[in-house]
Amino acid sequence: MAKENKKPEPNKKPKFSAYWIYAIIIVGFLVLNFMGGSSGLGSAPNTSPSEFQDFLEKGEVEKVVVVTNRRQAKVFLTPEARALDKHKEGRSKSILPKSPSDPDYQFEFGDLQNFENKIATIKKENNLSTTVSYDTESSFWGEIFITLLPFALIIGVWIFIMRRMSGGAGGGAGGQIFNIGKSKARLFDQNTDVKVSFENVAGLEGAKEEIQEIVDFLKNPEKYTSLGGKIPKGALLVGPPGTGKTLLAKAVAGEAKVPFFSLSGSDFVEMFVGVGASRVRDLFKQAKEKSPAIIFIDEIDAIGRARGKSNFSGSNDERENTLNQLLTEMDGFGTNTNVIVIAATNRADVLDKALMRAGRFDRQIYVDLPDVRERKEIFEVHLRPLKKLDNELDTDFLAKQTPGFSGADIANVCNEAALIAARKGNKAVGKQDFLDAVDRIVGGLEKKNKIITPGEKRAIAFHEAGHATVSWMLEHAAPLVKVTIVPRGQSLGAAWYLPEERLIVRPNQMLDEMCAALGGRAAEQVIFNEISTGALSDLEKVTKQARAMVTIYGLNDKIGNLTYYDSSGQSEYSFAKPYSEQTSELIDKEISNIIETQYQRAIDLLEKHKDKLTELAEVLLEKEVIFKDNLEKIFGERPFGKKEEEIIPEPS
Ligand code: ADP
Ligand code: ZN
Repeated sequence: MAKENKKPEPNKKPKFSAYWIYAIIIVGFLVLNFMGGSSGLGSAPNTSPSEFQDFLEKGEVEKVVVVTNRRQAKVFLTPEARALDKHKEGRSKSILPKSPSDPDYQFEFGDLQNFENKIATIKKENNLSTTVSYDTESSFWGEIFITLLPFALIIGVWIFIMRRMSGGAGGGAGGQIFNIGKSKARLFDQNTDVKVSFENVAGLEGAKEEIQEIVDFLKNPEKYTSLGGKIPKGALLVGPPGTGKTLLAKAVAGEAKVPFFSLSGSDFVEMFVGVGASRVRDLFKQAKEKSPAIIFIDEIDAIGRARGKSNFSGSNDERENTLNQLLTEMDGFGTNTNVIVIAATNRADVLDKALMRAGRFDRQIYVDLPDVRERKEIFEVHLRPLKKLDNELDTDFLAKQTPGFSGADIANVCNEAALIAARKGNKAVGKQDFLDAVDRIVGGLEKKNKIITPGEKRAIAFHEAGHATVSWMLEHAAPLVKVTIVPRGQSLGAAWYLPEERLIVRPNQMLDEMCAALGGRAAEQVIFNEISTGALSDLEKVTKQARAMVTIYGLNDKIGNLTYYDSSGQSEYSFAKPYSEQTSELIDKEISNIIETQYQRAIDLLEKHKDKLTELAEVLLEKEVIFKDNLEKIFGERPFGKKEEEIIPEPS
């Protein structure tokens, strides 16, 4: 529901009094129940079995009803007997008015058998025509309660589920059941104090330029429509998470000064059929009321995944309905409604083609991970709010230290650095705090007190030294710059690389990288003649890479120039492999071949440079962290001079 609605909802009041009515009814029930007593409403004065016997012998009893389950007898007198004074007195004792069909007396008998026999004898002796009938009876209110209980339970459970589903947070009790079909979009408009402009978005020049157009469309639509052009209805922001897609969309709204409805694709998806579609309808209705406006749908792949094919579960239909509704709404609003839909996804390839058709999300804007220069700008944006920065802080340096970081990661680094500085009790946030923050974000918390035996420490040192040695020796492997054996997060040690930024990768480069990744295990083998579980993540990486070479990039001679990769994500082979059994065997064999060859290569290299490997490991054991200088001291200048641009941390 829209946030700006500060007036109390007019439909709240009657609901509140409805609760009072329920309460009154319940209290009424209880009161009646107690007044009626345990024997129900029509309770008659009690009498005793001997008195009854007396009445019966005198022929004053017309009928006896035996309530077997309560061992109770109800006595009905003859009209003549009722007229007698002694019985009138009894009748007037009763609280409630009597009707002739109510019993005159009631009493409890002991044993049914005895009681029956007694009546029978008296009847025979006095030659009476008194009728005896049998009945069972249960408490009227008890009965009702038992009957209604299941219904009450079902309704209770239903209300509970409905409340949970409609978000639950805040709002009056009960009211949410009716909101389930309402959109959950959050509204940012001039009243909300979230103000984002293009100032806040660093880098992303291309994306900003393209999106600037949308701001223009929203600001002065006439300029474009007067020439007969149509204003686009949607733009799709495509890029990895945390690269600033939401930020960009917010900036558009901020710059155009229009309301901004923000929600995530998964907000449409609920357990109930039809909810998604009705939420889409509601969202567009709200947006049109506030037009010009922007609707931002984050993670649109939650609903926009290609229809059909992918799986057999029923939830698919619901998603399809939602998607269809979205398409209908986008087609439905005219170009003059001034509502622009901006959606974000990190997987444009899996989206339904219908979404990308002209007239829907016809603009696709790519938002990539930032490069060095952009990272510098993002740092500058996020350093602004930090108080008391160290003077020597150099954003160029920080940008170089954080390759592969998204905008969100950088924001996180800045925040973490401030926290670290505060924890140390520093007056200013300094360079070291940022480096610690980067380490921490990449590898997790430093675990200084993790218990590692000297033997294990030695194994770890040789493992890391193995990575360092192999990568130093291979032409295409990224050279190591920093090696540490300080345990951090899940990893026991880490090697930091200096990768080249490559757009295409050659098989030799991949093989060298795999060889370096296997260098850790190879060193353990060469030095200790036994291997360990410490190479798990290396093996995982290498296996994935080898498989990709064979099955995805077509880099294997035996398999040839084909790929089993399906970029559309709509593969029909989700259950069967797209290749024959023989090919699958061949693939396995080739993968294993590649890996074993590289492993042997690493072993040979390390055997040859065993002395240097040992030297490096000893230095590492002593210092725990070593840098490029230490490596150069041992190995000499690296033969393959490379431009050192960036450092990629690589847990091993
Ligand atoms: P996405 O929607 O792409 O997953 P967000 O837009 O939510 O990512 O970004 C999360 C946060 O990361 C933002 O709030 C912002 O602080 C930071 N951020 C990301 N990209 C940038 C950028 N280009 N400039 C400044 N900050 C950024
Ligand atoms: Zn390793």
